[in-house]
Amino acid sequence: MQVLMQANGPLSAYDIARVASHAGGAIVPGQVYRTLERLIEQRRVLRIEMLNAYLTRPLSGHLCLICTICRDVSFIEAPRLQACVSEVSAAYRFTPSTGMIETLCHCRACGDAKSRVTP
Ligand SMILES: [Zn+2]
Repeated sequence: MQVLMQANGPLSAYDIARVASHAGGAIVPGQVYRTLERLIEQRRVLRIEMLNAYLTRPLSGHLCLICTICRDVSFIEAPRLQACVSEVSAAYRFTPSTGMIETLCHCRACGDAKSRVTP
């Protein structure tokens, strides 16, 4: 948990194992996965499905914006979007399994940098 709290962004289980091993004894990814499962059940950690990475759970937010270039994430309150997804899912007889909607995009810094390179 401490590794995630000190991270600047989402970390994979292998990243967590590597950082935790540097701080103490050897830790294998299997141990990390078991700990992450427990922390997810306690709603202290969130798994970003599209990145296969983890971070401390934000206090609020329905929409997770994920930058495909730098992997930065932002959590946005979007209750109307969540209601829309729930309504459409129900119409197709699906039940959303998480309360978080993930979207791939570019953050402002990466978008600005990309527009400077592209003529
Ligand atoms: Zn970015």
